[in-house]
Amino acid sequence: MPADIYARYLRMQGHDVVFICGSDEHGVPITIKAKKEGVSPQDIVDKYHAIIKKSFEEFGITFDNYSRTSAKIHHETASEFFKTLYDNGKFLEEVTEQLYDKEANQFLADRFVIGTCPKCGNEESYGDQCENCGTSHNATDLINPKSAITGATPSLKQTKHWFLPLDQYEDFLKEWILKGHKKDWKTNVYGQCKSWIDDGLRPRAVTRDLDWGIPVPVEGGEGKVLYVWFDAPIGYISATKEWAEREGKDWELYWKDESTKLVHFIGKDNIVFHCIIFPSMLKAEGSYILPDNVPANEFLNLEGNKLSTSKNWAVWLPEYLLDFPDQQDVLRYALTANAPETKDNDFTWKDFQARNNNELVAIFGNFINRVVVLTNKYYDGIVPAHTDLSKRDEETLAALRAYPAVISSSIERYRFREASQELMNLARLGNKYLADEEPWKVIKEDEARTKTIMFVALQIASSLATLSEPFLPFTSNKLKNILNVSSSDSTKENSVENTWNDVAIKEILIPSGHQIGKAELLFSKIEDEAIQKQLDKLQASKKANEIANAVVEPQKETIGWDDFEKLDMRVGTIIEAEKMPKAKKLLVLKVDTGIDVRTIVSGIAESFTAEEVVGKKVTVLVNLVPRALRGVESEGMILMTETPEGQLVFVNPEGAKADNGLKIS
Ligand SMILES: [Zn+2]
Repeated sequence: MPADIYARYLRMQGHDVVFICGSDEHGVPITIKAKKEGVSPQDIVDKYHAIIKKSFEEFGITFDNYSRTSAKIHHETASEFFKTLYDNGKFLEEVTEQLYDKEANQFLADRFVIGTCPKCGNEESYGDQCENCGTSHNATDLINPKSAITGATPSLKQTKHWFLPLDQYEDFLKEWILKGHKKDWKTNVYGQCKSWIDDGLRPRAVTRDLDWGIPVPVEGGEGKVLYVWFDAPIGYISATKEWAEREGKDWELYWKDESTKLVHFIGKDNIVFHCIIFPSMLKAEGSYILPDNVPANEFLNLEGNKLSTSKNWAVWLPEYLLDFPDQQDVLRYALTANAPETKDNDFTWKDFQARNNNELVAIFGNFINRVVVLTNKYYDGIVPAHTDLSKRDEETLAALRAYPAVISSSIERYRFREASQELMNLARLGNKYLADEEPWKVIKEDEARTKTIMFVALQIASSLATLSEPFLPFTSNKLKNILNVSSSDSTKENSVENTWNDVAIKEILIPSGHQIGKAELLFSKIEDEAIQKQLDKLQASKKANEIANAVVEPQKETIGWDDFEKLDMRVGTIIEAEKMPKAKKLLVLKVDTGIDVRTIVSGIAESFTAEEVVGKKVTVLVNLVPRALRGVESEGMILMTETPEGQLVFVNPEGAKADNGLKIS
């Protein structure tokens, strides 16, 4: 989201922008998934790349190129990059001992190995990075490592690898980040970088013993590939090349010209790769520019829990687009207004609903709807001419002209939530102006004044059409069509066209005499049922996870034969059953035990009705001391088991010869 807002904003300012992203397709989890599903890793990445690319497009993310790291151009680019560093002696070549899984017959690196983080003690740390404390380390640093493939404890085996000696880049990183970017980088990003650099950096292996990835292109590299975090950031370069080839541009301008500004939009778990490792790689290569800024966000949680795709604790974009058709801007707005820019934040469906109903509908939508409806009603949709402007009118128009600079300032400092709130404040200004000036009352006594009010309100509506574009692009287009001004999806030529800066300087944004279109709802209220449906979906995920993770209870302590022989269990049949009055769980049963017919009170009423259990063969513990339940004496116990879903199941001695009274032993 922040990257798309930023790119759209820069384009509106007339900057030459190339907005790049892509699927990182060489991760170890891909190979694990492929193995599980019995397909090739390429099958997996082909499937997901298509889904992800389409979802981004439908969500209005304006990538100039959404590429992928399995593309030929990327393999060539990353391979060349490695070769250049190799030829210039930038790597250390070392035979080291790496973790090896004898059962799986392969080396374990990165996500193939799980163990205890040496820094924070998290027992589920991956081989290359701990997701709990964000530390990046080598797999051999893990305490008590286990193979993610077989669960075996790995042994050490010698293998040759190439290392990027990060320790040799400490001075450069200190100068560039700690001195150079103290003021302009976000404190969360700067702080993480400082802590790594202060801890001291160590050489990092940039190759792996794997068969999925980009082959190491030098002598001795057989059977090895580039480390995924070595090749992935080079993907930004390959994606730019791919785009430049398509567009007939020179890619090098965007990566090697000092006047180019490179900005990485990422999450905090990627800070080390974008601020320490990739810049050191670029520095080692020597001909590239370095990132100007890396405005990483903290984590966005979902309903109080960490997002997890494997646990299905997520809002899937393709599903959102189906459940909330044509409401991309609502999610865009909720995500921006609630972005975890300075600390971890929580996405909740209630907040999503409130942002829509209380802000987009009640303020933005309400204002626009009133302006358009009244203009059509009073003036057949023609912008009226104003007469003398009141002090309030002048102040309102002056306030409007201040907004482009205010919002720009927030965007340029990467404060997108602040920027989105300023946009909403502009809508508030319009909504309040109309509510205070009440043109629907004034029209009864002063037609000239009404025209002036509507003229001012139309200027605000027009400014919203322009300034909302980076945040709410679908709404912006819709509003431009309603106001009959140029929009990015209209083919008509129109004299009324405002740039971002026009809003600050033009006296008139939409002139009198201009014909606007009919009213159309920009946003609609989201009802509780729609929100409940989403919450139910998450609840179902939670339940499924509990079942999947249900553990078998450990065995109880050993008992003697005589202890067991004390239990007298018999085959019985339930011959009567009725619900215990005022007790949710209890059925009162009459059971033929072969010895007698007795009463047993059983807590099974939530799983079975009385009718269902009559005639059922059951296992009865007959010599249990009687106990009164709600005043009914219960003589024995019927044996049951319970599934993780909470469904009770009879331990059932079904069979032709299993007559009542037979002993169970
Ligand atoms: Zn840790």
